Amino acid sequence: MPESVQEEEFSIHWIEDVLQRVLERDVDEYLLSAGKSPSGSIHVGILRELIISDVIKRRLLDLGKKARTMFVIDDYDPVRSFPPGTSLSLDEWVGIPYSDVPDEFGCCESYGAHYANELIETFPEFGIDPEIVWTSKLYRTDAMIEEVRTCLRETETIREIMIEYVARDFSPEQRAQYVDSMKNWYPASVVCPECGRLQAGAKGSIMPNRITAYDPDTDAVSFKCHYCGLEDTRPLSQLRVKLTWRIDWPTKWHLFRVTCEPAGKDHSVKGGSYDTGLEVSRRVFGWEGPVKVPYEWVQIGGRDMTTSEGIVFTPRSWLRIAPASLYRFLMLKTDLQRTINIQPDRIPDLVDQYDRFERTYYALEDADSDRERLARLLYPLCEAQPVREEYVPKLSFKFAVVISQLEELLGHDVVVQRCVEAMKRQFGVESLHDESMSNIEQRLKMALNWVREYGTERDRVEVPPEVPAATRQTLTDKDKEFLSAMVEALRRGSASDEDIQAAVFEAARSVGLKEKRAFVVMYRLLISRKSGPRLGPFINLLGREWVADRIASVL
Ligand SMILES: [Zn+2]
Ligand SMILES: [Zn+2]
Repeated sequence: MPESVQEEEFSIHWIEDVLQRVLERDVDEYLLSAGKSPSGSIHVGILRELIISDVIKRRLLDLGKKARTMFVIDDYDPVRSFPPGTSLSLDEWVGIPYSDVPDEFGCCESYGAHYANELIETFPEFGIDPEIVWTSKLYRTDAMIEEVRTCLRETETIREIMIEYVARDFSPEQRAQYVDSMKNWYPASVVCPECGRLQAGAKGSIMPNRITAYDPDTDAVSFKCHYCGLEDTRPLSQLRVKLTWRIDWPTKWHLFRVTCEPAGKDHSVKGGSYDTGLEVSRRVFGWEGPVKVPYEWVQIGGRDMTTSEGIVFTPRSWLRIAPASLYRFLMLKTDLQRTINIQPDRIPDLVDQYDRFERTYYALEDADSDRERLARLLYPLCEAQPVREEYVPKLSFKFAVVISQLEELLGHDVVVQRCVEAMKRQFGVESLHDESMSNIEQRLKMALNWVREYGTERDRVEVPPEVPAATRQTLTDKDKEFLSAMVEALRRGSASDEDIQAAVFEAARSVGLKEKRAFVVMYRLLISRKSGPRLGPFINLLGREWVADRIASVL
């Protein structure tokens, strides 16, 4: 049972660890930042970073501190490639900032805005509300231009840092070559005023339109465009420039005085862009920079997600099949140094697990005091909304998986009514809160999406309008005797799920039919399969009368 052991494992000390490190900064207002380049649909993994920031913010607010979160959209990054399926031509748009590329769907300001909006729209549901910063707009502000000016004046220091960090593991020859290439290197590129590009060439052969000279006395910038060949010298204030990535990041930290920023392993490896940025913070801006919080990636079904290869599972894909609070729960309960592998096929079990965890918080489950303490701390951080004083019963996801597939047969109202009855029985209540009612609607939708997209053959329940002729022909005389007994039992009046389950065994025994065969016959009649959901509850879902009539139709 290694899997379930792992699932029961909670490793949440990281929350207090990060909080303590952030508190040591002792600033008037704490700013937690996160960021992403909108190069295509942004996958659900980015939420790990946003949720880490959000939770630290919530803990700071709990302590009476001032705190806020920020999300930086790197839409000023140039196009290097498009994900598969894009209708835009890479030749036409390569090297142009995402903010200047049109939205192929026509609904947003730009290509970059479209994919950023696709993500931002899901924030309220995930309980996060960072201030949004668009890098393309930021670079038009005087404050940012002033920071760029500082970097250009400190080019020599920045060159030293780049050589120290980038060439760290180079061979002596590579290093000599790199040092040589840095002699006339400047930490910024220019958006060519003629062709609108920041660089020429696609992935693998990129030539940035790097600044070739800067005169601090006149503020004049010289540059060369590798795409159209334009070479010119103009005042900094009349050009659109962009700092190179390793410098752009710490400059934004400094501009906003970011207290803490989590980063995925690609950026946070030792000597990587995060460490370079911290060095730039110290030596160029004379400031220590943010608290570095490295975290491992989120995988889906054991695979890393990459926008460029088109392997994308977005936050919206998650919300279609599962509650946002479950996602927060999975992010928060796992140590930052561990990869989180989301297995969509296990969603019903995970929702169940989270539902039990929620009831532990409300002291409605048998749990030891450690577990209860854990739930009291963690559960409020998992919820998108402030926690209610009273528990709101939730529809069992596994139940929803079965009944949501019967809507065509039974109609929506009957389906909801069956859900209400099931919940009243399960929770021993007389009536349901409005919120439970909206939870029913939500879970029915999620469960149906889940079963259609990720359910296995076993999870799928399809009731054909009539019993197929082929099924009728397989019925033996003994089968029919059993079925007659079932009709009688079902027409006898109301019965619980357990009574019906027992009636199947009894009817089989009474005519001398093997129990296993009896169940196969029933499932074949109802869903044209050999097995299916537990029969007693399933028959009650379909309605006893309806099932009796269905059986009678083949006798
Ligand atoms: Zn759009
Ligand atoms: Zn050009």
